[in-house]
Amino acid sequence: MDIQKLRAVVRGHVVNDPESLQDVSSDFGRLVHRSPTVIVVPSDADDVRRVVELANENGWAVSTRGAGHSQSGQSLSQEGVLLDVMGLGRIGPLEDECVWADAGVVWADLVTYLLHRGYVPPVLTNNLNVTVGGTVSTGGLGVTSHQYGTQADNVVAMEVVTGAGDRVTCSKEENRDLFDCARCGLGQFGVITRVKLKLRRFLPRCRTYYLLYDDLGALMEDHSRILVEQRFDFVEGWCAPCMQGMRNLGDTRIPFAEWFYPVHLTLEYADGTTPTDSLLSGLRHYRKVYVEDISLPDFLRRMEPVFQIWHESGSWRLPHPWMEVILPWDRAGEYIQGVLKSFPPTLLAGGHVLLWPCRGGASNAPMFVYPEGDFVMGFGILPAVPRKNLGMALSLLNKASDLVMQVGGKRYLSGWVEFDHTRWKAHYGPMWPKVLEWKGFFDPGGVMNPGFIKYRES
Ligand SMILES: Cc1cc2nc3c(=O)[nH]c(=O)nc-3n(C[C@H](O)[C@H](O)[C@H](O)COP(=O)(O)OP(=O)(O)OC[C@H]3O[C@@H](n4cnc5c(N)ncnc54)[C@H](O)[C@@H]3O)c2cc1C
Repeated sequence: MDIQKLRAVVRGHVVNDPESLQDVSSDFGRLVHRSPTVIVVPSDADDVRRVVELANENGWAVSTRGAGHSQSGQSLSQEGVLLDVMGLGRIGPLEDECVWADAGVVWADLVTYLLHRGYVPPVLTNNLNVTVGGTVSTGGLGVTSHQYGTQADNVVAMEVVTGAGDRVTCSKEENRDLFDCARCGLGQFGVITRVKLKLRRFLPRCRTYYLLYDDLGALMEDHSRILVEQRFDFVEGWCAPCMQGMRNLGDTRIPFAEWFYPVHLTLEYADGTTPTDSLLSGLRHYRKVYVEDISLPDFLRRMEPVFQIWHESGSWRLPHPWMEVILPWDRAGEYIQGVLKSFPPTLLAGGHVLLWPCRGGASNAPMFVYPEGDFVMGFGILPAVPRKNLGMALSLLNKASDLVMQVGGKRYLSGWVEFDHTRWKAHYGPMWPKVLEWKGFFDPGGVMNPGFIKYRES
């Protein structure tokens, strides 16, 4: 690759020293390692356009990287150009209850900017230290998704540099196909450079009820009620193992657990008012463990101390084969209990297992595929796995991933995804021909993020 050609046209930084290349050779997953030839930190969307144009002229691959929190190398490049979009970091202006943000803006900074102005984004992911472009490219699920869908659903308009090198503004009204494939498009069709996001006003206080369930069936019945009655603004849950000892599995003895289900239900409220426990009436939890009142800004940052513990304990640096799935409601209980039973709970140490119930139809972003039905269940096995246990963990996760397909569920694509061509086709189902058409049209040279989605049988 002739890096001088890049240096001649890019106003931002063009970097290829070994240390910088090493820094971006892996992602949060720490399972895949790739070496880019060069990193470009664009200073604006025109830099991005010039890089993509040159890539097409010279047959170079271009991969887009935000904060690099993917888990299967989605944000890595092998011997190509790695476009570090964190160079695009402008916020503003605010207009019509919306904000424009560059793709490299980190959500934590956007939240700080908006809170001062009386707004918040309708959906936030647990980790705020990821980029706007990174989550809009995968979906962006949060504990308000049952009301507002994904972060991609809250994009009103975007600017994208397509894989063909065109700088285009798109929305539901304008260039609809590009709008539909770039959201949740994993950087396969172009580079998102700027996004206009819907906002909402907020109330300053939050009350969270920490409930514990010992019965997944009761939890699911309660959730369908909570979601229909819209009793709470934020809904999140976990699966937590209570170790029981060792049991036989084939020739070996493995640890096993009884699983419990912590649920956090949160209501936003105004100063001078107090929510009452009548919100819990009729719910069938095993125990009300704790009730907490905190400010909304603190609530939005509630996971930061958890991630801090992961950093301090060293688990942040371990491999993370995360597997998030979206399950049809009627098969969710059986699937979750089956998968949890097959997992030695010790394999899940250093992370957590999430449960995110949601109303069906909450998302309208076409590339975010999920099962039909009045409700769906989000379920995420999010472990940090020491290398010596990786073989077993990956084999169990890949089996659980195939089983998702069999029960009519779908994978969330930021995690550990090891799909061949057949699985990709099955994942997108009836959307697959459209995915191929969009890829051919918006990235005719096939330069964008090659390798992750297998468009052809190899
Ligand atoms: C601790 C932790 C907690 C998390 N919690 C949640 C959660 O609550 N909800 C949730 O939905 N996800 C969650 N995630 C997953 C995370 O949101 C996604 O991995 C997200 O894509 C990361 O954003 P990023 O900026 O790191 O993107 P990267 O990992 O850098 O990129 C992700 C994908 O998007 C593409 N991409 C990035 N920027 C652009 C762009 N500007 N244009 C086009 N394509 C682009 C990349 O090529 C890649 O395919 C979590 C991850 C971690 C590590």
